[in-house]
Amino acid sequence: MKAAKKPQLASVEQLFGMEPPQVHCSICGKTLFPDMENIEGVEACEHLAFVFYGIAGEYGHKSSAFEAKFQPVEDDFDSSESVTALAQAGYKNELLVLEITYGGMGHGPSCYTDLYGFDFSIERTSDQEDQ
Ligand SMILES: [Zn+2]
Repeated sequence: MKAAKKPQLASVEQLFGMEPPQVHCSICGKTLFPDMENIEGVEACEHLAFVFYGIAGEYGHKSSAFEAKFQPVEDDFDSSESVTALAQAGYKNELLVLEITYGGMGHGPSCYTDLYGFDFSIERTSDQEDQ
C-alpha cells in the first residue's frame, strides 16, 4: 500500500515588487479576483475550498464543506503548516493548495503569502458560461 495521500502544495514566489497575480480556478477557470480593490468580494466557484490572505492573516473565503471539515482543527492552524492541518481535517490529495508569496515596498519592504485551496472532488454544477 502507498503512503497516506495528503493535500498537494504548489508553492510559488514572485519577484519582489510584482503585483499579486490574478488567480483563476484550476478546474473551471473562473477568475477569482476580478477586482483587486475588493478582494473580500470574491465570487468563489464551487471548487474553491478556501482563500487565506497572509496580508490580513485571515480567510477571504471558506466553502461550507471546508468550514465543516476544518473547523475542528482550525485553532491549531498555522499557515506554514497548512498541509499538515488540512490533512488532519481529512483532506487527501484531492485538494490542491496554491501558495503564492509576493512582496513590495507598500509600507516598507514586506512579504505576504496567500493560500488558495482547490477541491478536485467537487463536480462542476454549472457551466460558468458568463466567465
Ligand atoms: Zn472552479
